[in-house]
Amino acid sequence: MFDNLSDKLDKAFHILKGHGKITDVNVADTLKEVRRALLDADVNFKIAKDFTTRVKEKALGENVLTTLQPGQLMIKIVKDELTELMGGDVAGVNLSGTPSVILMSGLQGSGKTTFSGKLANYLKTKKGKKPLLVACDIYRPAAINQLIVVGGQIGVEVYSEPENKNPVEIAQNAIKHAKANGFNVVIVDTAGRLAVDEQMMKEIADVHKAIQPQETLFVVDAMTGQDAVNTAKAFNDRLNFDGVILTKLDGDTRGGAAISIKSVVNKPIKFIGTGEKMEAIDVFYPSRMADRILG
Ligand code: GDP
Repeated sequence: MFDNLSDKLDKAFHILKGHGKITDVNVADTLKEVRRALLDADVNFKIAKDFTTRVKEKALGENVLTTLQPGQLMIKIVKDELTELMGGDVAGVNLSGTPSVILMSGLQGSGKTTFSGKLANYLKTKKGKKPLLVACDIYRPAAINQLIVVGGQIGVEVYSEPENKNPVEIAQNAIKHAKANGFNVVIVDTAGRLAVDEQMMKEIADVHKAIQPQETLFVVDAMTGQDAVNTAKAFNDRLNFDGVILTKLDGDTRGGAAISIKSVVNKPIKFIGTGEKMEAIDVFYPSRMADRILG
């Protein structure tokens, strides 16, 4: 994960290592390399620029020029800033409802259905919940079948109404079914399309309004870099979602989405997907991710 970025940052810090005394030119060179590394990782230009400005201010404030180990101090400052950029604290999911309703949104292929299964499995095995999965994709029968297969793998019931073409009704009926049958979490998987379009947005906004979920999650493929960030912005403008799920981080060699998305939509990344299996889900810890990035 993010090997290139880690390598480039490491090289940037080398400028400060092994110097008896460093100068502000050394610091400026290091920051230039840090910025270049972020841009190569597909981090948005403004975010990268603001990031290095903040690091510079902190470095000057902490007298990096006179410290005995300027390289170490810079790494610490960059790590703290990266952690902050990715969200600071860990953000959990709101499970306060009876049942707690979680609405999944995102483009087709982002990993929404897979993640719905992973989350159901996580809540069942790690949190002792009784989840119900709901298939609300009325366009692709294959999507309903996919969720049924996923549900079968993890032993979680899947609610669907293959003949019903009204996703609002399906979601509402599913919640009634959950209440009547003792399910305490309802995970609603919705229809995505290949690109943001008005019909999809209206449909999910209607479902959102009708079922008033405790948690609306936006699922996005980390490998799509700045596109992921733009798509997040479009969904957030419409849904004001609660959190981001970054999938396919196992295949993401660059890291731009992970680093940028929080500061663009001002919503935390809550979980990451790291593979196709149902167990490949992790809570997102900004500081651990920063550690990984810095190698
Ligand atoms: P949806 O259209 O948004 O519901 O997307 P799917 O859940 O069908 O996922 C699309 C493809 O991405 C499938 O082949 C999944 O197996 C794959 N996928 C989903 N999440 C991950 C992940 O975290 N890592 C990897 N490598 N593949 C994933």
